[in-house]
Amino acid sequence: MADTQNASAEALIKSEDPKHPANLICSLCRQFYTFGWVTGTGGGISIRHEDHVFLAPSGVEKELMQPENIFVMDWASKEYIRRPLALKPSACTPLFLAAFTQRDARACIHTHSQWAVLVTLLCETGQQGPDPGVFAMNKIEQIKGISRGGAGSMEVAEGGRKLGNLGYFDTMQIPIIENTAHEEDLRESLEEAIVKWPETCAVLVKRHGVYVWGKNVTQAKTQAESLDYLFQLAVEMHKLGLKWVS
Ligand SMILES: [Zn+2]
Repeated sequence: MADTQNASAEALIKSEDPKHPANLICSLCRQFYTFGWVTGTGGGISIRHEDHVFLAPSGVEKELMQPENIFVMDWASKEYIRRPLALKPSACTPLFLAAFTQRDARACIHTHSQWAVLVTLLCETGQQGPDPGVFAMNKIEQIKGISRGGAGSMEVAEGGRKLGNLGYFDTMQIPIIENTAHEEDLRESLEEAIVKWPETCAVLVKRHGVYVWGKNVTQAKTQAESLDYLFQLAVEMHKLGLKWVS
């Protein structure tokens, strides 16, 4: 019986398909490493696929990640059904689960991008807006790459407001929460921010990085890319004395 259970657990991460979540997490971690998003084992990605949640472990160099390193959790029970014995689950796990539960997201990316960190520092100065708890930007083409709520659709809400992506004349607002000594302790404030900001698809963590989610891997990834572009642009605009919201 033990062997059978073991074999079925191993089958969860063995696939020739590059789109299989265990393979995709590894290839995305390599890609994010080259972007400077997951340097020094920080940051990560989780994918919720059918009845399972695939999670990268703590402490493994992201560019060297292998499918054998991946934890698999049962979505219904939240129990691990595959655990690499020598590894610990990522400290980001409760935060990924918050995005999956509260937004029905299927993928969540956490980066330690320097641009995300710098934007939170600039918001702290109060020079770009009165509220240090929110990063806001408008009239930049790339904000059209950001969905409302991380699950963009063509649905229309009461009053005719579109529930899909932001438009050029919309103002993108990303909440910023305080950092904590331990990553897992961010869960409560991240959940509060998700409730308070129903249109956001991301939460910035002061002096730390950003969590971005999507209805699938592609949307989570493209939104993380668009946001990183906007964070970098914001830093450069600030250096030139330009305002983020006009
Ligand atoms: Zn982190």
